[in-house]
Amino acid sequence: MGTKNQTSRREILEVERRQVMARLQGLREAVQIEVDTDPEEGDPEVHEREKNLTLIAALEGEMLSIESALRAIKRGTYGICERCGEPIPPERLEVRPEATLCVKCQADVERLLRRGIMRPRTGRR
Ligand SMILES: [Zn+2]
Repeated sequence: MGTKNQTSRREILEVERRQVMARLQGLREAVQIEVDTDPEEGDPEVHEREKNLTLIAALEGEMLSIESALRAIKRGTYGICERCGEPIPPERLEVRPEATLCVKCQADVERLLRRGIMRPRTGRR
């Protein structure tokens, strides 16, 4: 876990963040345009809008992961699980550079989220 490695990870994350941001912007605009449709009518546009809203929620989640990974890099805690403090295997960071939880904690958190015990951390105002 050298400094050089951290720098390239940050670059990867910055690029990813820009891409997610651009996609989010496009989707949010699309959703706003369709805001006039009447949900009672079963309009195909409503279906499209729902799909977009689901996508927006997924991308917002991704954005939060990317941002917390970037914060971790700044703090110098990148590569360490936020939940249990164990190091996250480099193979995992290779596949998911935005990961801030180890595989075990990620699975735990996802299980809790599915059960509705834990609420997802959203950045909504
Ligand atoms: Zn963990």
